Amino acid sequence: MKENIQVFDNVLQLIGKTPLIKLNSMTSGFNGEFYAKVEGFNPGHSSKDRIALHIIEEAERQGILKPGDTIIETTSGNTGFSIAMVSIIKGYECILAVSSKSSADKIDMLKSMGAKVYVCPAHVSADDPRSYYQVAKRLHEELKGSIYINQYFNQLNIDAHYSSTGPEIWKQTEGEITHLVACSGTGGTISGTAKFLKEQNPNIKVIGVDAFGSVLKKYHETREFDEAEIYPYRIEGLGKNLIPTATDFDLIDKFIKVTDEESAHTAREISKSEGLFVGYTSGAAMQALKQLNEEGEFKKGDKIVVIFPDHGSRYMSKIYSDKWMEKQGFFDSENEATVEAIQY
Ligand code: PMP
Repeated sequence: MKENIQVFDNVLQLIGKTPLIKLNSMTSGFNGEFYAKVEGFNPGHSSKDRIALHIIEEAERQGILKPGDTIIETTSGNTGFSIAMVSIIKGYECILAVSSKSSADKIDMLKSMGAKVYVCPAHVSADDPRSYYQVAKRLHEELKGSIYINQYFNQLNIDAHYSSTGPEIWKQTEGEITHLVACSGTGGTISGTAKFLKEQNPNIKVIGVDAFGSVLKKYHETREFDEAEIYPYRIEGLGKNLIPTATDFDLIDKFIKVTDEESAHTAREISKSEGLFVGYTSGAAMQALKQLNEEGEFKKGDKIVVIFPDHGSRYMSKIYSDKWMEKQGFFDSENEATVEAIQY
């Protein structure tokens, strides 16, 4: 086991082996013991470091990538940051095709990590040649020696968590885990982790967290794609308007939906009560725990692991901004804002 005082050859050696931290005040009075797998401790501040490293190293093993080649993906989020970070250390070019909806901050962040960012119009359909999907596909076809990560449809996304997140949780709980609760976006985290854990103990219950406005829960229940489920929502990285093949729905026992508003408040609550500065989807996962506890899902003696996917610093202009919260109508009264900043 790596210790924090160890010296590392480069930042990539710090990917994974994230801590499992007991939740105390957030779960006081709940049935069972609750532990958070805090993925913000990865050097790129999210669980996506694991898939970026795994997919790129697998391409190297297969001889598809050579130094100087190019790695392409369509994301302005955590995956883009992680790919850019891995590319720097391994000497690859990183191209990210992003939607013009992405904030300037996010684009600047990716550029600071050396990525070349193509900003593509947001309001065109996915099959329009100007869309970020098509731009990424075209660049991949044109650039010899490039790989397209395509995280929603890449089985290696599941493998990354099967070979790291799953074994880590099994070891950290000494095999005593009874429930895994995790957000589902691409589905890589929940599917890969569940696959490993259920191979060790098929009785472990796996619960996926979905957003209102996403099709995943309904698809899990009916195996039908219901467009009526789809409408805009604010949580980023959770839920989807398509069915990703990186999700193995058979490994998930049930889904639970959470609202934008409750998830935002819950993330802020985690920061203030556990001292853990976490992202929006960590709030969503914690909100799911609250609902599941109320439904009587857990009993005394259960050991529940919840995944907190990323760090709060990515959300300063969103859930950690009182102005943003107010603009969304998430504050019922003025007193709900944070402790006042005092000027001298
Ligand atoms: N939370 C955040 C912040 C994410 O970026 C993602 C990835 N889309 C998830 C949760 C969900 O993880 P996964 O894609 O592995 O399902």
